[in-house]
Amino acid sequence: MSSESSAASASGDTIFGRILRGEIPCDALYSDEHCLAFRDVAPQAPVHVLVIPRQSIARLSDAGHEHEALLGHLLLVAARVAHQEGLSDWRTVINTGGEAGQTVFHLHLHVIGGRPLAWPPG
Ligand code: AMP
Repeated sequence: MSSESSAASASGDTIFGRILRGEIPCDALYSDEHCLAFRDVAPQAPVHVLVIPRQSIARLSDAGHEHEALLGHLLLVAARVAHQEGLSDWRTVINTGGEAGQTVFHLHLHVIGGRPLAWPPG
């Protein structure tokens, strides 16, 4: 991973920025210099975890080539957390934009599992 993406900041003024800055608590499952994984406050399944970069990127469409390694890392952490939670099958979701259901504009991956999941989503 490039040193640029390692130079993480949590400056985004969202609720996830506040979690990263330690201003509000979360139920953390994994943390490293690049990202944080914690339980969703309103779980949609028995396991519902969010993986967020420490670097503030509002949405996936704002990511560029310089974020390539970071995005790969987030996916690997999502798989790590899913395994940690005992899941063999799960869904990884990134909502991008309000019409797609994004409500917090700090990039995040949902890791959802522990029950059968219908497709397509609503
Ligand atoms: P999205 O709708 O894709 O932007 O997802 C945002 C998610 O953040 C939702 O599933 C919320 O339940 C979750 N969420 C919002 N605030 C918190 C919080 N303080 N701690 C944990 N999860 C949160």
